[in-house]
Amino acid sequence: MKKNNKVITGVIIAAMVVVTGALAFSLNSTNLQGYLQLGGVKPSAPVISKPSIQRSIPSPSSTQIHYDSYDTIVNNEQLVDGMYVYSTDKFTYKFDQNLTDSPTVRKNYMKRSISKNEESFYFLENFFGFKHPGKITIFYFLSQSQISGAGNGTTISNNRTQKITQTDVDNFTFGNAHELSHIFFVPTDAPSQYYDQYSGFNWFMEGLAVFLSDYEQYGSSTSNWGIFCEYNSWAEGYLDANNQKVYNSNIVPYYDFSVRFPDDSNGIYSQQSRLGGYRSGECFWKYLYENYGENKFKSIFPVMHQKVSQDPKYYFLIVKEIINPTLGINLTDFIKQRYNYTEPESISSLQ
Ligand SMILES: [Zn+2]
Repeated sequence: MKKNNKVITGVIIAAMVVVTGALAFSLNSTNLQGYLQLGGVKPSAPVISKPSIQRSIPSPSSTQIHYDSYDTIVNNEQLVDGMYVYSTDKFTYKFDQNLTDSPTVRKNYMKRSISKNEESFYFLENFFGFKHPGKITIFYFLSQSQISGAGNGTTISNNRTQKITQTDVDNFTFGNAHELSHIFFVPTDAPSQYYDQYSGFNWFMEGLAVFLSDYEQYGSSTSNWGIFCEYNSWAEGYLDANNQKVYNSNIVPYYDFSVRFPDDSNGIYSQQSRLGGYRSGECFWKYLYENYGENKFKSIFPVMHQKVSQDPKYYFLIVKEIINPTLGINLTDFIKQRYNYTEPESISSLQ
């Protein structure tokens, strides 16, 4: 039961996190191509020309990343069962030997991976306000599909169809904040018998992952993120020099969160598409962030950590039992109206 549970949710979580050159997950159009490879659909959206953005990334303190030399780490690589293995304090990295024929490219790639993923990890740890307890393993595989996912609280896998080149190293600009955020909150621990009925929790968690990935890449000013979240719909685009909206997609109604599985048959910019689920979830968190401010927003996560550690069924009551009391508000009608979603009555109703 437990195993099935993990497999099923792993599929949802992994659903569309695409390994791009940068290995940074984002639904912005710069990475859309990767997404479309997965969906097998030709891009129809215009190429985005985003304005250049000043980033403001909280940098990790010197006590968090303190490697004297990445060279030492990569030169101590060990080949075990076809995987090159690298260890740091918090992470183990495993790199498929078939991913490149060049030891120089491999080592350069791993130096970048260690530095960027650990930067993302500590960004998230600071943002969430609690420490991740375990050691994390990040896999890189050469595979048939271009996808990455976090299957449990300690493992991330990145599958790619092409060998890694020095260009991939040069384009590796951000760590995988999306999957790393799933490592901090693991809905796979939630009881699977409620998934169909209370599927919205999955979209809240995916939305949070997209939100944090955008925050890390584009900074704290949400107007730079390439998405417009409206009352009943979302769209991709940006504000031009005159503060006018420039659309890079059509306007898409919010995903119906009472529906568990997305459906791309009407295109990626349709209401129940995978992109629609991720973006609709992102807009939920963006709404909170913009309306209640960064400090109150951040105060949600230690509470969430405490509650879901106590009982994973709280994942099904994120709004009712975690966000509402933490912010002193009541969003029950809001999520019904916007996402057609109703959480369970109480924890005891899930027994
Ligand atoms: Zn995800």
